[in-house]
Amino acid sequence: MSNFFELLENRIGFSRIGRINFSKVEKLYIRTPNVAIPIKNVLMKQFSFIQEFENHDLFIISKEIFLKIGFLREKFRNTGFIFSYPGTYEKYREILEKNLEIFTKDNVISIIPFNIPSTTIGRDFAESEVKNYLTSAVDILKTNPTINFGLSIRLFDYSELIDLYIPVIKENENIKILNFVDVFDRFSNFRKIINSIVEIKTKLDNNIVIMASGRIVPKYFPMLVYLGVDLIDSSFLLYLSAENFYDTLEYLLPIHKVKYLPCSCVVCKGNLKNLVGSKQSSEKIDLLCIHNLIVAHNYMMKIKQYLRHEDYRGFVEKSSLDDTALISMLKILDKNYFPLVRFETPISQKTKKVNCLGPSSYNRPDFREFRQRTINNFEPEPWTTMIILLPCSAKKPYSLSKSHKKFHSVLRKFQEFTNFQEIILTSPLGAIPRQLENIYPVNSYDISVTGDWDDTEKEITSEMLHHIVTKYNEDIPIICHLGSDYLDIAEKVNSILPHNFHFTKVDGKVTSKESLKSLESLVKQHVSDFKSLSKFPEKNYLSNTWIRKLIKILDYQFGGGSGIKIINDDLIPLRFTSKSQVDLIDLKTKDKLGIFKTLSGQICLTIKGLKRMAHVPFSIDSNIIIFDGQEIQGNTLFRQGVLDFSSNLIPNNYVIIIDKEKKEIIGTGNLIVGSNFIRNSKTGRVVKISEKK
Ligand SMILES: [Zn+2]
Repeated sequence: MSNFFELLENRIGFSRIGRINFSKVEKLYIRTPNVAIPIKNVLMKQFSFIQEFENHDLFIISKEIFLKIGFLREKFRNTGFIFSYPGTYEKYREILEKNLEIFTKDNVISIIPFNIPSTTIGRDFAESEVKNYLTSAVDILKTNPTINFGLSIRLFDYSELIDLYIPVIKENENIKILNFVDVFDRFSNFRKIINSIVEIKTKLDNNIVIMASGRIVPKYFPMLVYLGVDLIDSSFLLYLSAENFYDTLEYLLPIHKVKYLPCSCVVCKGNLKNLVGSKQSSEKIDLLCIHNLIVAHNYMMKIKQYLRHEDYRGFVEKSSLDDTALISMLKILDKNYFPLVRFETPISQKTKKVNCLGPSSYNRPDFREFRQRTINNFEPEPWTTMIILLPCSAKKPYSLSKSHKKFHSVLRKFQEFTNFQEIILTSPLGAIPRQLENIYPVNSYDISVTGDWDDTEKEITSEMLHHIVTKYNEDIPIICHLGSDYLDIAEKVNSILPHNFHFTKVDGKVTSKESLKSLESLVKQHVSDFKSLSKFPEKNYLSNTWIRKLIKILDYQFGGGSGIKIINDDLIPLRFTSKSQVDLIDLKTKDKLGIFKTLSGQICLTIKGLKRMAHVPFSIDSNIIIFDGQEIQGNTLFRQGVLDFSSNLIPNNYVIIIDKEKKEIIGTGNLIVGSNFIRNSKTGRVVKISEKK
């Protein structure tokens, strides 16, 4: 028995890729996010509409006439339908009872309507309307327990009314879709919108499909998907078309003002251009409808594409920049909701270029996660005798850039090189220990560099540098080899901390001969200031640089102290197999302990590797799932198999799976969802298993 909704992959923010099974009798999967296209009689008569949408897989129907078996089964066999009735509750109930068989067996799900003529009403009246609606809805839900329904959510601008809906949704498992009728009508109410979404995400089963209806234009689609909306009802475009509006994505233009049709869809190429100036033309309105729906459909296709293959957050930012309400929404989400959003946002994205567009990018959840994790998990190497601060480079990883190769040509002259802790200052990520330069997002971000940092950028980087430097003995000398724009940051931290900062003389560029000479002589001058407390362990099979990196990457993924347990003294561990991955192999036992994947910047440990790190009794605090059994079947761990789990699970991170008795590690894999989803769901995929016992 398959579930109504399945979450397949999480993306940044609350965005997610999933599928809905629209049929109870067969498998009819409709991918989400998706846009539901309205079907109207007038449109069905237009050949261009049929031509354009015959392959679309999700429609909204509002008239009983479309509930004919012939229509649903023959013409649109592989299509999902949402029946959204615009009339009264009583009439809807009649239709439902007449068509029970269709709603039970066919590819259509109906929304229990909540229609009320006025939209602005007082608080008390709104509350009683919601209560009345819920009483009637519960009656339908209980009478038809085997039929799936959508529930309408109308809040009348009083976002706290969502609390009235929550218990009803929890009690009635045949509610599969929540149709937000008026919540997205005004994006200027961004706080109320976020509040409603957060209530749903933290209090209800996360497998409930979220649908957005109401006054929605395509321009808002990227943000709606970022907020976790799975389905968007595009019916409002019919109304806008009747009002003679032409959607260009950025704007809604009155059609008579459109001189150049910026679209080559079937109607724009066809008769619409001849009708632009005509008044009272029903053909013009029909054609406008088709164009506007095509715009909505194409934009959703773009979103689906970008969710899979590009940095989706960058797209959301770009598409929000000309709308102050959308920008504010992103800012509030980044600033106030990180503790929730971090458990929905994958820890890494594979081979995606992340463009920082400016202030809107500074506190992206994946950037904040990186900073927080680095501050929490990065511990000084005990053999450190010197800290060196360096500027970032456009090329990633930094050490492959021309400038960093020059720095290294100086630093590697010193036999103490492995005792140097390099920290790279960059905007907007912060202060990056060299060992973490290969992980996401350090390996993927790009920003236009002009040399001018704004106050927020300086604040972010100096705060992170402060946190990291504080972990070190204050007698360890800190050499700053920085251009003018970075100096403020080092000086600010220098003024707060007792540590000894020494600045090189930069002559022109930091890479000029004179500057590099100054770096060399300053390092020479202070290289013996601090005596190391322990020695760097000698390893012969891989460069010291890689050993240092792998230890810190493991700490980053699994918590401070993890790396040294896996890559320890007794072990001669490592061997490169190809450019895209590094195998961690114990040369004594020939055991494979893990693989470092350069594309994702992550280490996937084997069970043998994990055994060095985690022991009985296992601590549930971090990266653990307790499986309800002894042996995992198949390649996916589902929610039903999870007995208990750590509260710090983040999508795309690796997790240790232990048996029911908590006696041994029985598997490992990549998380599909995070702790919040697991906590709030009864079904769904949880881990993509990479190894099982
Ligand atoms: Zn067009």
